[in-house]
Amino acid sequence: MFQPPYRGRFAPSPTGPLHFGSLVAAVGSYLDARTQGGSWLVRMEDVDTPRNVPGAADDILRTLDAFGFAWDGPVLYQSTRFEAYAAALEKLRQDGLVYGCACSRKEIADSATRPAIDGGLAYPGTCRHGLAAGREARAWRLRVNDDEIAFDDRVQGRVGQHLETDVGDFVLRRADGLFAYQLAVTVDDDFQQISQVVRGADLLASTPRQIWLQRCLGFATPGYAHLPVAANAAGEKLSKQTLARALATDSAAAELIRALAFLGQPVPADLAWAPVAEVWAWAMTQWVFNAIPRCPAIIVPQA
Ligand code: GLU
Repeated sequence: MFQPPYRGRFAPSPTGPLHFGSLVAAVGSYLDARTQGGSWLVRMEDVDTPRNVPGAADDILRTLDAFGFAWDGPVLYQSTRFEAYAAALEKLRQDGLVYGCACSRKEIADSATRPAIDGGLAYPGTCRHGLAAGREARAWRLRVNDDEIAFDDRVQGRVGQHLETDVGDFVLRRADGLFAYQLAVTVDDDFQQISQVVRGADLLASTPRQIWLQRCLGFATPGYAHLPVAANAAGEKLSKQTLARALATDSAAAELIRALAFLGQPVPADLAWAPVAEVWAWAMTQWVFNAIPRCPAIIVPQA
């Protein structure tokens, strides 16, 4: 069977500085790629422009560099890709797969009957068969069906969803005119010929939507590995919202060791005082993918 060359990626959103949770995703995707002789790309997911924090993209790249990551090729910025997203949306529209939706949040809240799998409400399909007289499209949604979309995640095992029940027709272009994450990530993973997606398990529930989009657009489906995410004692994913602290570059080696231990790697005690290059040298030769804990979240003490 044809095996495409390994191409992995790390795709941070520049909504703030890197924190321990994002470091875990970077370390996991980097080691999976490099230990298999693969390429590793960095993509700046700045598609949701109101959430971008000025200076955060450069800060993330400086931090990755200080932590000893080396990426292949130029960084791809999603803010430069709007034409590609528009072309994909237009293709789907011509194929009759997307439709304009006039529903406000409140209307959806009032008419939805089911929760969506990752929070919020499953879209009840109100505008599916055309807009009511006098209504105007605000957003563009992709039609889904109720076939099971399943994949074998390399960490979390088999995952399946019925999109119609679990999510509903989902938004590709938002009411504010911006392209949705699901469209941007799918178009760019294909554009960059990503063969293995290694990222946090907070995105596990998004993957069937991305696989459905790949099928609608005629793209190949990459392999997936969803790493456990770092959570606080309340069970919330470490993020800017939960005020995870920024990574300090002067303790890069210690943070790397913490990320490796989080990913189940048996880091030897005598590595604790080693410089960054030595931690990477150990990790590149000793990385055991199968040691990654097979659970979606792990609680870490917050410093
Ligand atoms: N930009 C997303 C995030 O920072 C990650 C997207 C992905 O890896 O697919 O959460």
